[in-house]
Formats: sequence, structure tokens, C-alpha cells
Amino acid sequence: MTNNNIVIGSGLSGPLLSILLKKRGYGVTLYEKRTDLRLKKSSSGRSINLALSYRGISALKAADIFDDIKSILIPMRGRMIHHKNERLEFQPYSINKDEFINSVSRKELNKILINKAEDLGIEIYFNYNLKDIDISSKKLKFDNKKQIPIQGKIFGADGSRSQVRKFIDSKATHPSSFVPLNHSYKELNINPSSSGKFQLDPNALHIWPRKNFMLIALPNYDKSFTCTLFLPNYGENSFKKLNTEKVVSDFFKKHFNDVLPLLEDFPNKFFINPTGSLGTIYAKEWHSENNFCLIGDAAHAIVPFFGQGMNASFEDCEILMKCIDELKGDCSSLFSYYNNKRKRDADAIAKMAIENYIEMRDLVLKKKFVNRKKLINQLYKLYPDRFIPRYNMVSFTSIPYSEVYKRSSIQNKMVEELELKKTNLNNLKNRIKNNIELIN
Ligand code: FAD
Repeated sequence: MTNNNIVIGSGLSGPLLSILLKKRGYGVTLYEKRTDLRLKKSSSGRSINLALSYRGISALKAADIFDDIKSILIPMRGRMIHHKNERLEFQPYSINKDEFINSVSRKELNKILINKAEDLGIEIYFNYNLKDIDISSKKLKFDNKKQIPIQGKIFGADGSRSQVRKFIDSKATHPSSFVPLNHSYKELNINPSSSGKFQLDPNALHIWPRKNFMLIALPNYDKSFTCTLFLPNYGENSFKKLNTEKVVSDFFKKHFNDVLPLLEDFPNKFFINPTGSLGTIYAKEWHSENNFCLIGDAAHAIVPFFGQGMNASFEDCEILMKCIDELKGDCSSLFSYYNNKRKRDADAIAKMAIENYIEMRDLVLKKKFVNRKKLINQLYKLYPDRFIPRYNMVSFTSIPYSEVYKRSSIQNKMVEELELKKTNLNNLKNRIKNNIELIN
């Protein structure tokens, strides 16, 4: 790799990738379409947060950044289910006390990453919106009329609407596709109480599961909560139907009565805040001729229900570094090697993220699901290396996502057999003890 590498996008994965490359001695410059978020005061004052877990933490540790981030994390130890009758039910994420996920402000995390990159001497150019990659003149063209020569590798860390992906698609045998979920989301806010306290338990991810839709809330460091409503686009309970203040207020009264008095400037904010769309990017080819490579959402944007988009994007950066090691620094086939290695894992987490939406909005309400979870945890306790619940494998280990998918499918089949009385517990335990399928 030469010294003139370029990363497009200074969101979450762009700066982390740049830092990891720089630490290995590769020169890198970042170009970002937005203005510098450290200068801009957030217009709405809202604090958007994300769940950070093991894979993201591992990559941040590899870049020596985790210590700077620790102090802004809020542990979330489980799901707090808000039933329709206002009963609260806490469902822990793990039987182990040291296994939890963390709420973190996207903006603060981004600031720390950008600062760290600059500390290492990485130059970041803001207000550079990549518009075109002109291969004949070997130039990147930005909408501020600037043109930058292509001399080294180009990394597209430019998110789900990636321009770099568009370029790769134009050369690809199998161009990428976007599959919409047909559900969208809207963020709302819960302020701290008048005495400056959290208005809900801060150490949980709150869910109001309502079968075909749900509301969730994650804590912020300023003691507010960011709520996100996930709802179908069309149909009986849908964004299409929520079109007047009265309809919106009645809808919240009917489905989320306990949280209604806590919502800031409601229902005004419902109409002011944008509605975001959701879907999955399926891209087979993440690189072009080993010169252009996609990372993070640009390669594999997924729906947010496993809280893994950022974690997977950070993990991409760590895995790319491992690929450099495995190839002993010979970067001539780096991108195809990385693409082959990582693609199956991106596909697996995309599938699991969609499945987790059904778990969060519906299954958590079902006795059968809760009982199955108990049984799986019982087996996890007995065989902690062999029988790990899917949620734990995804959130608290770095077992490749494709392996997680395979193992959890086998585990589920085993437990189903027990539920259907096709086997008994002793039999099952023996199979787990002897079943190498679960660990290979
Ligand atoms: P981004 O963070 O989107 O960064 C891309 C950057 O590229 C941006 O700064 C953008 O301005 C810049 N850019 C774009 N186009 C250009 C261009 N043409 N030229 C120059 N710059 C450009 N993930 C989790 O792990 N946990 C969660 O709890 C979680 N919750 C989520 C909730 C919601 C509602 C959503 C929508 C997503 C959530 N995610 C979560 C996913 C997470 O936000 C993404 O996976 C993550 O931001 C991907 O990082 P990235 O760097 O690839 O892309």
C-alpha cells in the first residue's frame, strides 16, 4: 500500500479505519461531505445514541481508543418490557454480570474518533462531497469543484448511500441492491426530570412491544432518553395513518400511555422530526480491482434491530487489519481476500437483524419465548463454551456472525425437540457435551 490512501466518509468507521491504517504506517487522508460536527451546534438539541457492544469495543481497543470512550458509556443490562397494561418486566441480556451493552452518543463517539485521527496527524477535509470517480483522469471529483488525484487505495466509508459503492457497482458483474423493510422510524425525546434525573431506569433498553410495531428508548449521558418509534409505512397502524395531531396523540395514548407524559414537546416533535427509512444493502462485490474498497454501511447497511450496524462496521476495520497481517503486508489481493472472508458474516448479521425485529416487537411478549430463553440460559450455564445464546454470541463475543447463525440454528432445533418432547433434558445434555457441531 502506498502512502497516499484516501478514506471517503468521516462518520463512525472512516476515522477508525484511518487510525488503524496510520498506526501501521500507511498514510491516509479523510474527506467528509458534512461540515465538522465539532463546530456545529446540533440544531434540534437531540442526542442520538447507539448500542455499543463487544465487537465494536474490541476494534476500539485495537486502535487504543476505548479508554477515551469508557466514560461516556451507559451500561444497559437488559430489556425493560413495557406491557400494554403498564406492567414492567426486566429481561436481562445475560446470566453473566459482566455481559451488557452500552448506550453511547453517536456525536460524542464521532468527535472522539475524529480528534484521535487528527492527533495522529491524519488530515480531514470537511465539506468535500464526493460526486464522481473519474477513472480516465484518475481523479476523485467533489461537489465543491475540487479534484483529488487517485494515487493510493480508496476506501468507501461513506455510509448506506455510498458514492464509492455506486462506482464499484458500475464495474460489477453483480451490482448491489437495496431491500426496503417497509417499516420506518422516528426519533422522539424524553428530557431529564425537573430535578435533573432520569425519568426511566437508565440501565436498560426500554421496549414497548406492540406486535407489529414498537417504541424503544435508550439513555443519554445528559439523563435524557432518545426514543425511536418503529412502525410500518402503510396499513392500520402506520406512518401513513399518523397524519394529524389528534390521530398521533390518540395512537400514543392507546399504545404507549405510560410514556406519553414524558415525551418532549409532543405531538409537535412527531411532525418536526424526520421519518427515516430502513432496509438492507446486499452487495456482493465490495471492491474494484483491489483499488477501491467498501467498509461499514457502504458495504452492508442493515436494519438496526440487533444494534450491530456500527459494531459490525468497527469489526470490519479490525478484520481488514487482520487480513493485512495474514497476507504479510502484501496488499495486491487484500480487498478480494477481505471481501471473501467477511461477506458471509455480513449476510448472517443482516438476516439476524431482521429476525431480531420480530423478537423485539412480538416474541418478547410470549410465554413460550420467555420459557425457551430460560431453558437456553440453563444450558448456557452448564456448557458456557458450547451452548451460548444467540444474543450473547452476537453481542458479547467475536465468534464470526456466520458461525453464530449456524450454531444458534442448531441450538434452536435442539430446544424445539425438547419442547415437542421428542427428546428429554438428559439426552439433550449428552448431545451438547458430545456434539462437535456446536463448537466447530
Ligand atoms: P456512517 O456512520 O453513516 O458514516 C458515513 C459518513 O460518510 C458520514 O459522515 C457521511 O456524511 C459521509 N459521506 C456520505 N456520503 C459522502 C460523500 N459522497 N462524500 C464524502 N462523505 C460522504 N448500530 C449499532 O451498532 N448499534 C445501534 O444501536 C445502532 N442503532 C441504530 C439506529 C438507527 C435508527 C439506525 C438508522 C442505525 C443504527 N445503527 C446502530 C447502525 C449505525 O448507525 C451504522 O451502522 C453506522 O453508522 C455505520 O457507520 P459508517 O461509518 O459505515 O457509516
